[in-house]
Amino acid sequence: MAAATQRTKRVIHGIRGTRDILPLEVDRWRRVERVARSVCDRYGYAEVRTPVIEREELFAKGTGESTDIVQKEMYVFTDKGGERVTLRPEATPSMVRAFVEHGLEQALPFAKIYSLGPMFRYERPQKGRYRQFHQLDVEVFGISDPAIDGEVIEMAAAFIAELGIQTAELVINSVGCTGCRPRFSQALLDALGKTVQDLCGDCQRRVKTNPLRIFDCKVQADQPIIEELPHSEDFLCDPCREHFAEVRRHLEAYGLQHRVSHRLVRGLDYYTRTTFEVLGGEVGAQNALLGGGRYDHLVKHLGGPDRPGIGFAAGLERLVLALPEETREGNVVDAFVVAMGEASWTAARLLARDLRRAGLIVLIDYEGRSSKSQMKRANRSRARWMLILGEDELAREQVTVKEMATSQQHAVGRDIVATELLKLRARQT
Ligand code: AMP
Repeated sequence: MAAATQRTKRVIHGIRGTRDILPLEVDRWRRVERVARSVCDRYGYAEVRTPVIEREELFAKGTGESTDIVQKEMYVFTDKGGERVTLRPEATPSMVRAFVEHGLEQALPFAKIYSLGPMFRYERPQKGRYRQFHQLDVEVFGISDPAIDGEVIEMAAAFIAELGIQTAELVINSVGCTGCRPRFSQALLDALGKTVQDLCGDCQRRVKTNPLRIFDCKVQADQPIIEELPHSEDFLCDPCREHFAEVRRHLEAYGLQHRVSHRLVRGLDYYTRTTFEVLGGEVGAQNALLGGGRYDHLVKHLGGPDRPGIGFAAGLERLVLALPEETREGNVVDAFVVAMGEASWTAARLLARDLRRAGLIVLIDYEGRSSKSQMKRANRSRARWMLILGEDELAREQVTVKEMATSQQHAVGRDIVATELLKLRARQT
């Protein structure tokens, strides 16, 4: 019996690598989401919400068979209808699918879309790296001009700056196109020669599937070999070189400081030409706040028209971690209504309803508690005002408004109390 009781009392924990976002942290999340939407709106992006569940094939084809994401990290299963499905590990293939499937090119003035939502990767969890995490994803289709690369990168930097994150660094590179990249890949293989055998297992696999991704390797012992490898910039064809120079001219015109890193190839197969990341100094080992680049063949590869694309994804968990300490967002309780005496409860509830309708954040107690315990709760709620409604107030059609910070109180007519509080609140914030 004792064992059975114990078993029924066992607490069921959340899954490793997933997190509950609790009320005290939610303020910070709401700030990141509000700024994200506001920035996207101002740069002309339309919001799209795609399902978290998609066909496995979309990512095998879109993200790339050779990537760690597809090979090791996807949550894939066969559903009851026998279909191979997966929880999306990233947003870009879904965004491309939606763009193609619904002909968004015709529907929108510019094919600029964004999305916010959870992604799933079976990675080794640590601070800033989770199995369920959230991204802001931004994509533009149909524009090859480097002016859009410049604008997308400027928007990413503006987003980080508006969040108040001071220590971010912008890193860029060009990985070339289908014309010049194979020459670079071959140069990497030639330079590696026999030293391939000395690299880690992952790198030996990368050599066969996508040699550029050797630059993603974090294994310490591999670094001396990797440091000696050729740089992508030296193998760019003339149009790619000119495109990269033009992107940099745009960044300079915007006054955006940046570092060129030949190692920035990014872990996905679909990138062409521009790649970029924003690194945040204070997030720990997992310090990439956002990353993206150009993908000129993905739309066609996924069955759509031949349209170039560029975009980025920002990790919301990492942005929340990187926010300045003092960040607070709304959610301050305006008033706590206290009913003094049994006769006041109905009037108190109607007062709370009317104030809420007027736009104030209002709390009220239940279960007919004593006025003393209501006041205790009012203190705990950190409301700006306590609104007291007793027999006297009812008779005079008034409410006693007590400012919690100063303990000063005054009577206000019941019919004007909402307007009064709104005015006071506007003056205080
Ligand atoms: P990616 O889709 O891999 O290019 O990543 C884009 C951004 O998403 C990164 O810069 C991170 O901020 C974030 N991110 C990627 N993977 C994770 C993860 N497992 N946990 C938390 N954030 C992540």
